[in-house]
Amino acid sequence: MQTPYSAVTSDRFNRVLRADLAAGSIFQSHAEQIGLSSVTLGNGNVLHAPCVIDARGARDVPYLALGFQKFVALEVEVDQPHRLQCPVIMDATIPQHDGYRFFYSLPLTATRLLIYDTYYSDGRELAREALEQRIRSYIDDNGWTIQRICREEHGVLPIVLAGDAEQLDRSASAGVPTVGLAAALFHPTTGYSLPDAVRTADLITRAAAAGPLTTDKVRQLILETVRSTWQQRSFYRLLNRMLFRAAAPSARYQVLERFYRLDVGLIQRFYAARLTKLDQLRVVIGKPPVPLGRALGVLSERDLLKQEGIGSP
Ligand SMILES: Cc1cc2nc3c(=O)[nH]c(=O)nc-3n(C[C@H](O)[C@H](O)[C@H](O)COP(=O)(O)OP(=O)(O)OC[C@H]3O[C@@H](n4cnc5c(N)ncnc54)[C@H](O)[C@@H]3O)c2cc1C
Repeated sequence: MQTPYSAVTSDRFNRVLRADLAAGSIFQSHAEQIGLSSVTLGNGNVLHAPCVIDARGARDVPYLALGFQKFVALEVEVDQPHRLQCPVIMDATIPQHDGYRFFYSLPLTATRLLIYDTYYSDGRELAREALEQRIRSYIDDNGWTIQRICREEHGVLPIVLAGDAEQLDRSASAGVPTVGLAAALFHPTTGYSLPDAVRTADLITRAAAAGPLTTDKVRQLILETVRSTWQQRSFYRLLNRMLFRAAAPSARYQVLERFYRLDVGLIQRFYAARLTKLDQLRVVIGKPPVPLGRALGVLSERDLLKQEGIGSP
């Protein structure tokens, strides 16, 4: 694909954001209690503000049925140029374990690679050491020799199969507004949240430029975003149900294999969570890579919630 690939490192992200923050910003401080107009810190100090936003990250929510994208990655220096010309997003020509499995390789410099061993699995447990060994074998199999391991990372990201919109709506309608994963603001199929985070930050910044921010005002803005995002992404949840519930774990790769034969523009719009209705049709027409009976069985979001005992009675 001739698509540009952008990446940001945590270090640079941190540097750039800090340079822009107001003097007096508080770091490394635990919020013990948050309220509509105050936050109590771990040291007992109470901060008062007209606008409080809860960005404390993911928490277990009872209204989503989830699968998981989990991975371990090694950033390595190899002893010779690796000759990988561009990122390899999904190399699934490897044994399939624990669901859909693929390697994801990013060439950062001529001799530096970031390599992920990734799984689309039903469970969230991550065997870090085993995965690290598999990355080392993959590096060997490609004829590369590790000179130095620069960094390791691992993660378990949520993949949304179905959710109770009423409960999501209720939680976004009351109290301190939450952003990020806790507000279900992430791509349902990749689990990535950076684009949604940027959109949320932009939304709040524009509101601030128009007048003083309050907790109520931000809650209303986030609520509208949460609602529209949830509705716009129902198709992704359907695809996820096909992947996780209609396809046998060892055959999940066939769903992706078919998908990556589609038009490159469609693939870009898929990652950007901007598929058109026509794109959606293109994704599902043709011979399904999953048994038809099972595909029909996962069409309804509500039925899956019922089966898993999730949602409003
Ligand atoms: C290894 C790895 C790689 C990833 N790669 C990508 C990627 O390439 N692209 C992408 O889009 N996403 C990626 N993700 C996912 C992305 O990082 C998460 O979706 C995102 O960070 C979630 O954002 P959030 O704001 O909801 O929560 P978080 O980023 O978890 O932020 C919550 C913050 O709140 C702090 N906090 C929690 N409780 C308190 C408290 N009581 N008081 C004060 N502070 C508190 C936490 O310390 C944390 O800093 C990756 C995740 C991992 C782990």
